[in-house]
Amino acid sequence: MSDTVAPPREPGVEGEPAAPGAFATGVAQDRASLRDAALRSAPRPSQLAAPIQSLRGAGPKLAGAAEEMGLATVGDLLMHVPHSYRDRAAPRKLADLRIGEEATVEVEVRSARVRPTRRRRLVIVEASVADDSGPAKATWFNQAWLVDRLTEGTRVLLFGKLDRSGFRVEAHEILGTDGDARAGIHTTGIVPVHPASERLRAQRLRDWAWQARGLARQAIEPLPAELRARRRLALEGDALAAAHFPEGMPQAEDARRRLAFEELFLHQAALAARRSERRTTRPGIALGPPGELTGGWLESLPFELTTDQRRALEEIDSDLAAGQPMQRLLMGEVGSGKTVLAVYSMLRAVESGYQAALMAPTETLAEQHAATLDRLLSTQHVPFTLLTSATPAARRREALTRLATGELAMVVGTHALIERDVEFGRLAVGVVDEQHRFGVRQRAALDEKGPDGRAPHALHMTATPIPRTLSLTAYGDLDATVLRELPAGRQPVDTWVVGEEKRPGAYGFIRDRLREGRQAYVVCPLVEGSEALEAKAATEEAERLRATEFADFDVGLLHGQMPAREKQAAMERFAAGKCDVLVATSVIEVGIDVANASVMLIEGAERYGLSQLHQLRGRVGRGEHRSQCILFADPGSELATRRLEAIATERDGFKLAEVDLALRGEGEILGTRQHGLPRFRVAELPDDIAVLTEARREVIALVDRHGSLAAPELGPLLDATRARFGDEAIAP
Ligand code: ADP
Ligand code: MG
Repeated sequence: MSDTVAPPREPGVEGEPAAPGAFATGVAQDRASLRDAALRSAPRPSQLAAPIQSLRGAGPKLAGAAEEMGLATVGDLLMHVPHSYRDRAAPRKLADLRIGEEATVEVEVRSARVRPTRRRRLVIVEASVADDSGPAKATWFNQAWLVDRLTEGTRVLLFGKLDRSGFRVEAHEILGTDGDARAGIHTTGIVPVHPASERLRAQRLRDWAWQARGLARQAIEPLPAELRARRRLALEGDALAAAHFPEGMPQAEDARRRLAFEELFLHQAALAARRSERRTTRPGIALGPPGELTGGWLESLPFELTTDQRRALEEIDSDLAAGQPMQRLLMGEVGSGKTVLAVYSMLRAVESGYQAALMAPTETLAEQHAATLDRLLSTQHVPFTLLTSATPAARRREALTRLATGELAMVVGTHALIERDVEFGRLAVGVVDEQHRFGVRQRAALDEKGPDGRAPHALHMTATPIPRTLSLTAYGDLDATVLRELPAGRQPVDTWVVGEEKRPGAYGFIRDRLREGRQAYVVCPLVEGSEALEAKAATEEAERLRATEFADFDVGLLHGQMPAREKQAAMERFAAGKCDVLVATSVIEVGIDVANASVMLIEGAERYGLSQLHQLRGRVGRGEHRSQCILFADPGSELATRRLEAIATERDGFKLAEVDLALRGEGEILGTRQHGLPRFRVAELPDDIAVLTEARREVIALVDRHGSLAAPELGPLLDATRARFGDEAIAP
C-alpha cells in the first residue's frame, strides 16, 4: 500500500486547475508538483467518533457485539489492530496446484449444491468451479446458506487446500460488481487477523477495518513532531493504516512497533504527569537529619544491617530531607528485612515531632506488625495503637481523638486508616506494606492525610518481586529500592513437587520432623474469590489431620474468617511452640515469622501463582534448621508443569518473577485490578521491553526540555495521554 507513506492522492486532483500555491500566479501546476504539495488537509478527528453502525454490514446486533469488546466508534475500531497476519500469495492456477498445497485461486462457479451426509451435524456445500486452466470441485463445511450465493457465473476467490476430493475452502470472497477494490482482503496477500470474539468474527472485523482504513488519517498525531522526525516514526494515521493492511510483513512489524512505542510513550507520559502533579500540588515535609531516637534504636537491634538495608536507609534519609514527599517503592523478598526500614522511617517522623502510620492489607498482617513494633520498640517508649475494622467503637473513638491531636505518635492498621473520619494532626510518614494489594486510589488516600495540604512521605513495600523492567511500567512514577540480599543465616528451602502417591511418605516425613521438635505448616488450596470456601476446606482439613495423620500432635487452625481474637490466639500458640502443625489458608502468605517451623506442605499448588508459592515458602527456612517445602500438585497442563518445575529449582524470587512473566504474560501477573497496570492494546511485555525503555527515555528527555508536560506545545500529547490513560494514571 504505497499511500501509507506518501500523502493520499485525492481522487479528482488530476483534473483540477491549480493548487493553492498557484492561485495568485495563474500558472497551472503539473501533476507531480500537485502531488508533492501538502494536500493532507487538517485531520478531522470528529469523523472517528462515528458509530460502528455507520459501517456497511454493521447492524445493531453486531454493533452490540463490538461494543462488548470496547469498540463503540470507528476510531475504536482503528485502534483495534491485528494480533497476527497470514501471508497468502497471489492467486494461482487450479491446474498448477499439487495435492496438499495451500493456495488462493480465482474461479468462476458453474453449479453448487448441498451434499447430504450421514452425520447429522455435518453439512457440505459442493461447487463445480473453474478457471482458465481447468475445472475443480470446491467444498465448504457447515455453511449451507452459501449455496444461494454461489450461482452460476459468480466469480470467487478461494483460499484453501487441494486434497484428493477437491479444493477444500477455508476462506472465500465473492467478487462482486461494486468494483473489485476490496477483492482479496480475506484471501490474498498479507491478511490481517484482528482479535475477535464468539459473536464478532475476524472476517467481519477485517471487512470493517477495510472500510474504515481511510479514516485513520483523521487521527490527531500525539507524538511531538521533533521526536517523530528524529526517530523517523511514521504518522500515527499511516502506522494505523499499515498495521491493518500492510504491504508486507516488515511493514506490519514496523507499524506495530511504531504504535507500541506510542502507547508506551503515552503511558510513561501519564506517569510523569502524575508524579509532577503530586509534587507541585502537595509539598512534602522536610525532616532534619537522623537523631538520637533512631540512632539509639538502630544500635539496640540484635543484628547487623545487611548492605542492602544500609543503602536503603541512606536513600530514605535523602528522600526525607527533601521538600518533596518521598515516593519510594521498597521491593524485597520475604524475609529480606523490610520491616526494619519501615520502622526506621516511622521513627524518623516521630523524633522530629511528627506522626507515622503503617498500613497493611489484612487484619492478620496489621496485628503481626503491631506485635513486631511492640517488640522492636520495647525500649523506646513510643506510643502507638492498632486500628482495624475489628477495633471496638470506644477504642476507635479514643484513638481517633489522639491521632487528631497528634498525641499518638504511631498507628498500625488496615484500610481503616484511610477512612474519611480518620484525621492526623501531623502525619509525616506513611508506610504501605504489600502495596500491590491496595489500589492506586487507596494509596493516594494516605497522601491526603498530611497536615495543611502537605503530603506525607510514602514508603511502599512489596515482597512480590517485580522484574525491574516491568516495575518501570507499573510504577514508573516511584523511586525503587531493592533488597536482594537476605540476612545472614537464611537457609535455602528444599522444594519438592509431588503427586498423590507420595502422600503417606510426606506425612511420615513431617512426623519425623515434628518428633525432632520442629513445627510445620499445612497450606490449603486457594479458592479464588471465596474466603468462605477456603475457610471451610481448612477447617475440615484440620479436623481430618487431627483425627488421622497428626493424631499424636497439636494441630492448630488459621484462616481469614476467624474472629481477630482467635486468629491472634492461634498465631501466638504456634509462635510459642505450643502447637505443632498449623493448618492455614493463604492468609499466612504474609507476615508470620516462626523460626522453628521448618516444613511446609502446600495443597493444590497448581492453583497458586509462582510469586505466591515463593512467598508461602518463605515462611520456612527462617531459623537454623534445614527446611523443606512439599508441594502437592495436579499440574494438568504443560504450563503448570513448567511453573512448578521453576519453583522447585529456582530460589531467587526475582528470577521466579521473570519466569512467571515469560510463561504467563504480563496481563495475568500484574492484573489491572491488582497492580494499577493498564492493559496495553498494542505493546506486549516483556517482548517490547526495549521499546518501553526507549519510550521512557524520551519522556524523561521531554520533561527535562520543557520543564513539564504542561507546556502549551505539548497539548496534543497531554490530551492523548488523558484520553488513553485518563483517571487511572493521572489522578494523583
Ligand atoms: P520481610 O521483608 O519479609 O518483611 P522482615 O522484616 O519481617 O522481613 O524480617 C524477617 C526477619 O529477619 C525478622 O525476624 C527480622 O527481625 C529479621 N532481620 C531483619 N533484618 C535482619 C538482619 N540484617 N540480620 C538478621 N536478621 C534480620
Ligand atoms: Mg514483611
